[in-house]
Amino acid sequence: MAPCTFAGVGYLARVTEVDAETAVTPPPRRSLVRTAELGPLARTADDWAKVLGPLGGRPFHGKQVFRWIHARSVLDPSQMTDLPASLRQSLQTLGLAETLTIASERRSTDATRKLLVKMHDGSTVETVLIPRLPRLGQSKLPSPLDDGADDADDTDEEEDEANETVHVTQCISTQVGCAMGCVFCASGVAGLKRQMTADEIVAQVIVGRSRLEPNEQLRNVVLMGMGEPLHNYDATVRALKLLTHPDGIALSSRRITVSTSGLVPEIERLGKDFAGNIGLAISLHATDNETRSKLMPINRKYPLEVLMAALRAYPLPKRRRITIEYTLVAGRNDSTAEAKKLVTLLRGLPVKVNLIPMNPIEASTLGPPDWNGVFAFQKIVVDAGYSCFIRRQRGDDVSAACGQLALSGKWAGAKAKVRVDRS
Ligand code: SAH
Ligand code: SF4
Repeated sequence: MAPCTFAGVGYLARVTEVDAETAVTPPPRRSLVRTAELGPLARTADDWAKVLGPLGGRPFHGKQVFRWIHARSVLDPSQMTDLPASLRQSLQTLGLAETLTIASERRSTDATRKLLVKMHDGSTVETVLIPRLPRLGQSKLPSPLDDGADDADDTDEEEDEANETVHVTQCISTQVGCAMGCVFCASGVAGLKRQMTADEIVAQVIVGRSRLEPNEQLRNVVLMGMGEPLHNYDATVRALKLLTHPDGIALSSRRITVSTSGLVPEIERLGKDFAGNIGLAISLHATDNETRSKLMPINRKYPLEVLMAALRAYPLPKRRRITIEYTLVAGRNDSTAEAKKLVTLLRGLPVKVNLIPMNPIEASTLGPPDWNGVFAFQKIVVDAGYSCFIRRQRGDDVSAACGQLALSGKWAGAKAKVRVDRS
């Protein structure tokens, strides 16, 4: 088991607000052609070939367009230089850059960037770019959000470090708001406003990648932003397939982590659909049903014993582990007795544990325990033989830390509407 590492950092931050509207400027709004419900950025090469056929395109143009969009983050058809001019002209009418635009970018003093992205109906969500921090001394400290991705295969890491490549983890959203109603989470307090489409989900990565510095490389994607990914299953899965497509962004599935509050049937589906290869993070946050149901209403539908059975059945590839996320909320789930119960609950499961001292949110008086409590909890988990990390707070000066991604724009100040089916 890896040694337990603490890398908690507090920040007194200087925040730089960048008006990014000018940087990714959408073309003037025209008729937006969307083949059925499939937005332009959710199309595969074959889908593109079908769209381009009536516009005079040849079948191979489908793959070219797909590659421009997904491999190179080019959304302006005039830059797709290997296409015939007439096709580039026609593509101008298909609204590629209209799926999502960057409304603003806030940069943390730790180089984390929170992008507020705006969709065609004016809804906004947030996505966060988190560069890996330099290692401290000889120790191999994890970056906070790549804890969720498998750290087993870092063979190219040293070479990249020699080249001074900075690996970036991107945290993306899957819903506008969230229906799950977890009491410690800004997205949950807001309620679900709408599902995001597959092209909106994947567009966050496409535009996010175009914001990387020359020495940065997208390494991991975590579905830990706003929303419950498995409550938007079909769009999420399509986005995952696009993110891993070899002709596109080509992320390895082990470098993608889906975080869920515990929707059991969809955990089973995900396991089957990707043969367990997509990283799985479970927001556990409690060790008994009473406490968990108070913090996370979804527990009434899928209680702990059902969730744990689903985790035991998950078809995890060899040497991979499920990430257990445990947000520590003072006075609710943070006692040493709970740490001991957690150890018992996890016995026999290949897991690593991420402890997240609760980030305060405006809508709640709940908060994190003091550091002594956090360390005491961690020690019990470590002494039981588990890898257990306390997540470094990244980007909290720009409200980009876990659970702080709130609604803004037209949904700002919206009243909470919890719509979890509790039957
Ligand atoms: N809906 C998914 C993914 C988004 S939330 C899920 O719940 O897993 C990503 C992680 O942030 C979850 O583990 C969630 O419990 C945690 N989180 C939410 N609000 C938080 C807060 N205020 N402080 C710390 N962690 C929080
Ligand atoms: Fe939704 Fe996850 Fe927040 Fe719970 S923690 S409300 S599931 S986003």
